[in-house]
Amino acid sequence: PDTITVQELANRMAERGADLVKSLFKMGMPVTINQSIDQDTAELLVEEFGHNITRVSDSDVEIDTAADVDASETLLPRPPVVTIMGHVDHGKTSLLDALRGTDVVAGEAGGITQHIGAYQVTVKSGEKITFLDTPGHEAFTEMRQRGANVTDIVILVVAADDGLKPQTIEAINHTRAAGVPMIVAINKIDKSGANAQKVREELLQHNVQVEAMSGDVQDVEVSALKKTGLDELVEKILLQAELLELKANPDRDAEGTVIEAKLDKGRGPVATVLVRRGTLRVGDIFVVGGESGKVRAMVNDKGQQIKEAGPSLPVEVLGLSGTPGAGDPLSVVENEARAREVAAYRQQLATDKRTTHAPANLESMFSALK
Ligand code: GDP
Ligand code: MG
Repeated sequence: PDTITVQELANRMAERGADLVKSLFKMGMPVTINQSIDQDTAELLVEEFGHNITRVSDSDVEIDTAADVDASETLLPRPPVVTIMGHVDHGKTSLLDALRGTDVVAGEAGGITQHIGAYQVTVKSGEKITFLDTPGHEAFTEMRQRGANVTDIVILVVAADDGLKPQTIEAINHTRAAGVPMIVAINKIDKSGANAQKVREELLQHNVQVEAMSGDVQDVEVSALKKTGLDELVEKILLQAELLELKANPDRDAEGTVIEAKLDKGRGPVATVLVRRGTLRVGDIFVVGGESGKVRAMVNDKGQQIKEAGPSLPVEVLGLSGTPGAGDPLSVVENEARAREVAAYRQQLATDKRTTHAPANLESMFSALK
């Protein structure tokens, strides 16, 4: 049928009914747990809770069920995914480049650095960190609005000679709203006008209490230019990651999120996908947003062809039917007919939403309600 009770939806999503009721209330729909909601509303909720809609029949949507939650014994540690945010010119790009330079395997791999929207470094201890290569608040907020909360840790860059600026404060607010832990990198410490203490005090005024001010937000003085403080920053990222106990099951059909996608003249549609769980392999059949495909080849951030990609690894995927959008989910499915069916269904849903002027996302829905 076209409706489902809140309780039934909660069961299928393996979420608490009360949490769904709360979300619906925020969306301006005061319903009880036994009341029914329509399919569009159900879809919004499913997306908000970060689940995928994977199986379809003619008129019905089936949602990843509790059985799809990976059993704890299948979970293995995975590298953290880090986003760098901060005011313009405070050194986000420089810091990303400097951190990329800390990769101990880049040289021996012999590949050429490719900008694919994300990269992974292996640090001295052998541990891995994934960095999203698209600094800026828009990418972060847009992904989040689409239910793709891929970032585990935010690095807030503040120039020590400039202090907190409007986009710094925006970044703090976005990070808070996402519930993602923050590490403050006080950059440009090499400059003569640098005043790290002033930055810490300004942060305090915005309720960011760093360790030096008796708080629990880690901070570190760095110079992206002189490449100082990078080891300490890396250590703090790893410490934060350990606290988060980041894990994923590498041994299942892959699911990932599109970081960026483009139509390449020579190679056709290409998407950089961050694998979230499972292992993506050459030959796998998948659906990604409203597109489908079969992995023809995968290329890592060092320009090397690889055969498989596990959790937290960003890879360029070739073999798509078209160009998906940033934030679109990728799921491996059993066969091509299934992939085409799900993709067509999703395209239809997207068209329906546009023509029935449903809000594009939850964020705009909330502001429309205010
Ligand atoms: P973004 O806009 O945040 O990406 O900032 P950029 O990385 O483009 O840096 C802006 C400017 O600051 C550039 O001219 C950089 O060379 C300079 N810069 C970045 N980091 C440092 C640093 O640690 N020390 C000094 N002195 N300059 C820096
Ligand atoms: Mg930049």
